Amino acid sequence: MAPIRHAISRVMRSLVIKFTLLCGLILILATTALMSVEYYLKRAENTETGLAHAQIITELFATTLAPAIASGDAGFLVTRLGQFSDRADVDGIYAVNVGRTVLAADGDTPVNPGMRAADAMLQSALGAVDTRVEIIGQDIHVAAPAFHDGRVVGAIVVTVPIHAVARPAGEILRRQLMIALVALLVFLPLVALVVQRALSPMRKLIEAARAASSRNLDIRIDIRTGDELELLANAFNRMFARLEASVKRVHRLAYVDMITELPNRERFRKEVERVTREAAEGQEGAVLFLDLDRFKRVNDSLGIGEGDRLLDAVARRLREAARGWDLAHGESGSEPSMVARLGGDEFTVLLPQVRDPADAARLARRIIDSVRRPFEISGHQVFLGLSAGIALFPRDGDDPETLLRHADLAMAAAKRNGGNAYEYFEASMNRSAFERLVLENELREAVRDDQLVVFYQPKISFADGSIAGSEALVRWRHPTAGMLAPGAFIQAAEECGLIGEIGDWVLRRACRDAQALRASGLSKPVAVNVSAMQFESENFAKSVMDALEESGLPPHMLELELTESTAMRDPERVISQIAPLREMGVTFAIDDFGTGHSSLSYLTRMPFDVFKIDQSFVRNMMDDEHARIVVETILAMARSLKLKTVAEGVETPEQYAALRDLGATLAQGYLFARPMPLDEFERYSAPGAKAAQIAG
Ligand code: C2E
Ligand code: MG
Ligand code: MG
Repeated sequence: MAPIRHAISRVMRSLVIKFTLLCGLILILATTALMSVEYYLKRAENTETGLAHAQIITELFATTLAPAIASGDAGFLVTRLGQFSDRADVDGIYAVNVGRTVLAADGDTPVNPGMRAADAMLQSALGAVDTRVEIIGQDIHVAAPAFHDGRVVGAIVVTVPIHAVARPAGEILRRQLMIALVALLVFLPLVALVVQRALSPMRKLIEAARAASSRNLDIRIDIRTGDELELLANAFNRMFARLEASVKRVHRLAYVDMITELPNRERFRKEVERVTREAAEGQEGAVLFLDLDRFKRVNDSLGIGEGDRLLDAVARRLREAARGWDLAHGESGSEPSMVARLGGDEFTVLLPQVRDPADAARLARRIIDSVRRPFEISGHQVFLGLSAGIALFPRDGDDPETLLRHADLAMAAAKRNGGNAYEYFEASMNRSAFERLVLENELREAVRDDQLVVFYQPKISFADGSIAGSEALVRWRHPTAGMLAPGAFIQAAEECGLIGEIGDWVLRRACRDAQALRASGLSKPVAVNVSAMQFESENFAKSVMDALEESGLPPHMLELELTESTAMRDPERVISQIAPLREMGVTFAIDDFGTGHSSLSYLTRMPFDVFKIDQSFVRNMMDDEHARIVVETILAMARSLKLKTVAEGVETPEQYAALRDLGATLAQGYLFARPMPLDEFERYSAPGAKAAQIAG
């Protein structure tokens, strides 16, 4: 601000000087003009006065000397003329009679004494009987007739030096110059003062314009001069007000998220940049990356408008949680946290200062818990979850891009572990992110170049050892890594959105293969795994119907396996999704039953046909009491619900015998066969195969 003030003072000083100089110049010009006029007037007036003076004294002399001229008393005349010419205003004087004889003379007379009588002026004065005046050089020459007893007796001629009767021009000039100088001395400061006062509204205007140009738009100019300047100031004020409003609007558009009123990505980025730049030595902070679990599905079913309201409600909870954290954990005097929305269902939090990493985890926990409470959106209760990733600075990065990327990777890890959790960033995440990228690209190629194949694993009936069907399991014939099991790529496929395409392909392949076997006399139902993402897509039911129709496989020959966690994510939706397919005859199995920690009683009310007991229980049931109890409970429950059961991962004859005794329906495991290609499965299922022998 100080340099600006300085600059304005300079501008104003120069303005005052210029105006004062201008006024001074006008003053000088006016004075000079006035002086010149006055000088000429004075000079003319002076000459007039001089002439009158010369005329008066000459006439006075003529009157005084008339008797002496009439009597021709030369002696007297000489004496008197001598006295007269002693006067300062008389240079010379002489007297003549009517016969133009010079009776007496004294001092300088302009006319040669011999010529005096012939003086034309004298002659004229005598002839016309009135005074004649003439200026010759620096002298006034006056001839006045002398009257005695009513007649002209002669004349007196006097030479008067102009300087004696009129003030000299130089003196007039000097005097006027003095007056002009005094006027200038008095008026110039006065002019400067007046100019300065007159310019003070200008100063205000300039100051305001300067302030506005340095982005300070909340200033208002107060000028009440009642003239154009006041109008101008008011126009300025209106302009500032509009500009200020526009700037605020632009700022809002650029930095505020319109749905939640939270700072947006750009604003957040800038803030992280500032905080990391200004961080004191040893200061630690954190960036939290938050992503809602299941938001997309809720958004799809609610519609965009309600989805926005839900985001707004989430934003409010995040703000509350952050404020609570500030109060409980913020260092006194430290900056408060900032919650922002990056877009979609992604939010971020900046903690400018944390005492230790656990502080950030506490906020993450607080946020997760706050989002877990149901939301009330137009009369519906909506359940959401949230996964959080934490990146600490300066440890995990010291610029916004790195911190956000690392927090995002940590968030993805939290999401992979089932959501509703947080993770700290670890350096290995960077590496696995890269590996995943490579994997995703290869997977796209795999789908395009037909590198995927479907294997079949038989399911054996406990009752008679017959082959009751198979499970279709996808494999990837990788060009360099060889045959890959789904564990190596299914998750990546889910994350990059390829799972829909892959799942659909497996479904159609499995239906076609089962139908082909049926045509060759081997009629075995086939089970196909369905991932959560695939199942949640709007047109899932349609794609299943298409696969059936395309292959000609009867619907009752197809079983779809949903994992327990998929089934329990949104039970209402599951029910409505599977209803039309179940009506057609498609059966549904809960895969990996017992691992999802969901309420068993709730699960049993879901419209499923088969429980697939997870292989971890089967593996441990012989040595682990707990595993055995779980298996027994599931089987008892299935029996009372009249559901079929499949025991997965049966590897030993002991397990097989125990499960048979407990009443399981089907067995699937390496004890009988590993997943195998279609042609092998065809041979395997041919009458009189190995499985039957073991079972027997
Ligand atoms: P899942 O549905 O539970 O499939 C059973 C898995 O257990 C298969 O692994 C199978 O090879 C394995 N298994 C069977 N018997 C035994 C045994 O006696 N011992 C042991 N240790 N393992 C046994 P796989 O083929 O690696 O598949 C793993 C998982 O990948 C599957 O688990 C399923 O959830 C998923 N998956 C497979 N194919 C697909 C698919 O087409 N789509 C989707 N979405 N998921 C699939
Ligand atoms: Mg399965
Ligand atoms: Mg399973």
